[in-house]
Amino acid sequence: MIVCKFGGSSLADAGQIKKACDIMLADRERRIMVVSAPGIRSNVIPDTKMTDRLIRLIHQFEKDQMDQEESLGIKVRLTELTSSLELPSELAAELIYELDRLVFELDAQSPASKAALVAFGEWSMGRIVTACLLSRGIPARFVDPRDAGLMLAYKNGLTEILPQTYVNLAPLSLEEALIVFPGFYGLTEEGETMTFSRGGSDITGAILSAAVNARLYENWTDRDSVLAVNPEYIEHAAPLTEMSYREMRELAYIGFSIIHPEALEPVIEKNIPIRICNTNDPTAPGTRIVAERTHIDRILTGIAAGDEFCTINLRRVLINQEIGILSRILNIFAEMGINVHHVPTGIDSVSIVVKEAQFSLEQELVLRHRLRSELGLEHITAVRGMAVVMLVGEGIRDTIGVMARAATALADEQISIEMVLLDYFEISMLFMMRSYEKARAVLALYREFFPQD
Ligand code: ASP
Repeated sequence: MIVCKFGGSSLADAGQIKKACDIMLADRERRIMVVSAPGIRSNVIPDTKMTDRLIRLIHQFEKDQMDQEESLGIKVRLTELTSSLELPSELAAELIYELDRLVFELDAQSPASKAALVAFGEWSMGRIVTACLLSRGIPARFVDPRDAGLMLAYKNGLTEILPQTYVNLAPLSLEEALIVFPGFYGLTEEGETMTFSRGGSDITGAILSAAVNARLYENWTDRDSVLAVNPEYIEHAAPLTEMSYREMRELAYIGFSIIHPEALEPVIEKNIPIRICNTNDPTAPGTRIVAERTHIDRILTGIAAGDEFCTINLRRVLINQEIGILSRILNIFAEMGINVHHVPTGIDSVSIVVKEAQFSLEQELVLRHRLRSELGLEHITAVRGMAVVMLVGEGIRDTIGVMARAATALADEQISIEMVLLDYFEISMLFMMRSYEKARAVLALYREFFPQD
């Protein structure tokens, strides 16, 4: 069985919805279709994703400034979709009624009432796609994740999938009808709607794949394949045919928006491969994301880059001999709620790498004070405006000289490397530099490791 998830651009208008349905029908193994809310249309400029409109509606409600424009925009879009697909007008009326009901029930104090409205984009798309399949004579069934038992809870700032979810969803593998399943939301144990973070329909697809023991999880988007470098840096970067879960996780860490990073967990356990495919060109090979790669033809798989890192650098003679000092330092960060990304150490020094967004100037003052008063650390410097450029590839481990080549490529560009990180598993090599050098660094490294592309 194959579980397919279609993103917002793959369902943005009637033409795209038809393509998505055709894809489902082209292979009998495709039995479950996870849908996002309508996304950006290629021929409407500027366009707004339905989820963005729904979120704006909530913000307006919270400020007591609700105008009719947002909900009208949503209603027009739903009506356009149903009429271009020649679906009965009662469906549009029903969807509009549901939207009005959810807006009416909004309560500033109730996160669940807001979640239910944000999830309306996926819910309504599920209804439309089901109706579209039925109108073509295909036995299809709309399954609301809340009724099917996709159970969620909020834990440590993340939406957690409760274990009974997999048991509850497993029977879907026995269904005769084609299942249409809205992505992005589920139900709490208290019976309330809860959503994942943005882009979360990917996670729904992964959960279903694991629950029904799918052979493959296809993630349909609007591009042929994942590229080795974000096009923001390299215009025609090499397309990737295959990458491992590990490589994907590393690349997703900074800036690679391949698939929602939390979507890997459910499929990793069951070793279910993911294929990223293009709704606009279903024949393109796409990119496979697998547990273990079968052939590694390049040292590097991709280069990722990200900004707004900050280093906090501590110096004290022979700090590396003080037992427990690292944990005391990191405890202060933990107590202050600052997420630590990396901790490179020297003989007389410790650096802590954090994201600037999580480290305000006020926090810096408090941190400096605590490090000084509680641990007697006197030499503290904080450097903001740092970038991370990361080379990722399963091929790094077994190749000699990758670091030398990368460092030389950066040196030839007169780029000063501020920090280097490479751990035991050697799947990624991370260079820190000043943010303004990031784009040049990516180009230099790409030329070095992807010469003929
Ligand atoms: N519609 C939601 C979003 O725009 C979820 C998704 O598309 O995956 O983030």
